[in-house]
Amino acid sequence: MPDAEIKKLVKSTEMKKIKYPLSWSKNNFSIKIFCSIPNIATGILLKAGDNLSVIDPGDGILRDLTNELSVEQIKSISNVFITHGHHDHVGGLWSLFTYLRVMNKKSYLKIYYPKGCSEIEHIYKAFLKVYQSSLSYKIILTCIDKQKTIRAKNMSVKPFSVIHKEVINGKKRQVPSLGYNFFFDKMNICYGGDTAYCEALVKNAYNADLAIIEAGHGEDESDDMHMSIKEATSIGKTAIEYFLVHVPE
Ligand SMILES: [Zn+2]
Repeated sequence: MPDAEIKKLVKSTEMKKIKYPLSWSKNNFSIKIFCSIPNIATGILLKAGDNLSVIDPGDGILRDLTNELSVEQIKSISNVFITHGHHDHVGGLWSLFTYLRVMNKKSYLKIYYPKGCSEIEHIYKAFLKVYQSSLSYKIILTCIDKQKTIRAKNMSVKPFSVIHKEVINGKKRQVPSLGYNFFFDKMNICYGGDTAYCEALVKNAYNADLAIIEAGHGEDESDDMHMSIKEATSIGKTAIEYFLVHVPE
């Protein structure tokens, strides 16, 4: 893409603060991004026919789901996809677990998460410790180790590793992080989660019906944690449609 075009896009993205929710739908496949603000919260609902999934249940997910769906629909959610364990992506999981228990969910709830994401395992363990004896449904933790396509009800889901680093005690470490490519009825939605510019995302976003790409550094220079608007846009433009998300406010 020519530089002038990218500059124009950067400017237009800055001018208008992203207004959530962002919604996309095609035939029976749809996604609603309730929110995606760095350090605050992300929350996404994915619908493939009648099959409802949650992606990155950050703080506020329960409020957003209850505004959007009936109690029965929320109870029917069977899959939760976690990109990584940062609080703005998992902060609402405890509330979701508890709500489903209070509402007497009977069917299982599967949590897909990247290997090494200790936040999910600890939330799960703490939850069981408190509520196991009165839990009406089964939580199935599904740790994703290999980047092979999985079947999640009526969708095929291809997880892929992305680059998302953080500094802990002065040392940089790679956060266990995934993006997901969701396939349903010959369509696909690619969500990169939090990521620096990386080949895996470039490959998966290419030609997607929808690509959801983070620009966590906004206009600033990118690093190995987040992308700039310029980088995110250059990837988004290779998909049929795209949303930039996670832009600092
Ligand atoms: Zn993050």
